[in-house]
Amino acid sequence: MPALFGARSQRWLTLAHVQTVLGPVHPGSLGVTLPHEHLFITLAGASPPGSGDGLQGRPISPHELDDARRRPHRYRAALALEDLDEQCRELIAFREVGGGCVVDVTPPDLGRSPARLVELARRSGVAVVMGCGHFVHTFHPPGLAAMDEEEIQAEILRDLVAGVDGVRAGIIGEIGLGWPHHPEEERVLRAAARASAATGVALTVHPGHAARSCFRALEVVAEAGGAPERTVIGHLERTLFDLEDFVALARTGCYLEFDLFGREVIHHPLAPPGKPGDVVRIEWMVRLAERGFGDQLLASHDVAYRTDLRAYGGPGYAHLLTSVVPVMRGRGMPEELIRALLVDNPARMLAVADGEGDEPGRVQG
Ligand SMILES: [Zn+2]
Repeated sequence: MPALFGARSQRWLTLAHVQTVLGPVHPGSLGVTLPHEHLFITLAGASPPGSGDGLQGRPISPHELDDARRRPHRYRAALALEDLDEQCRELIAFREVGGGCVVDVTPPDLGRSPARLVELARRSGVAVVMGCGHFVHTFHPPGLAAMDEEEIQAEILRDLVAGVDGVRAGIIGEIGLGWPHHPEEERVLRAAARASAATGVALTVHPGHAARSCFRALEVVAEAGGAPERTVIGHLERTLFDLEDFVALARTGCYLEFDLFGREVIHHPLAPPGKPGDVVRIEWMVRLAERGFGDQLLASHDVAYRTDLRAYGGPGYAHLLTSVVPVMRGRGMPEELIRALLVDNPARMLAVADGEGDEPGRVQG
């Protein structure tokens, strides 16, 4: 069997922590971790003009569920995760099948909700890591255009170090990019890379819908002093379609995140053209591991619409554990690789050496 992992898998995490909304924890305590999800979010601003009109506020009826999963932007009720009790039930379902940690990569632009994340973590027993930074240009808050790189970096560092009302972010992102990149998106990305370099906290990127966006994003990160090894490029299964592109991206040292597990619906706006489905995602991951990149792979669901929840017939947060791992095993994926995807890689990605993350200006060695 070829070596599935590169050198980084040997670096075990001793004097390190992960910043959760309830405080720092040891990376080895997280267990199965979903590195790219949303727990509270509002996507109403993402509706194409006219969509959702006339449906506002009305619950989705059972006979509409299939259509709402394919075309969530037609249903206003699908465009927000905001019910604490409902989210708690969804996270408990994840915990009950062995889940340990969820990373909420919702930036403030999309309705990040620090106090409710704390409440959700307490009530569900699942560790929650909070994000920070800014999403794609169309969601940027008024005023961001007038901020320079230093001001944006200072804002990110505040969320990482002081926190929002004491709740500290544990990851930077998801930083949103369109394609071509808007100049303000690249300014945010440079500020995010500088904050990552200053604290050792990882940076997670939502690339534009083009392979070149992934490579350009890593150039911007490196130019700003950030490290590809501390950078996650997300949504790869809707962005890259050629094994050699995946390999070239992996060679930069970044994490490669397949975070749309559970999206099997070919008409969904985020479904990859012609290549939908978990089976295809698993094949990409196996082929990348066979090339030695097994310690750079991450898997998640990007739950973002209400119709992604189990309560609405969706895959929810437990889908990887309940429905994908059996397919991975059936495919013959080695147990050590499954463990790397679900436990070790996200823990290493989130881990910050003790002493780092507390002092802005300190540069990771
Ligand atoms: Zn995204």
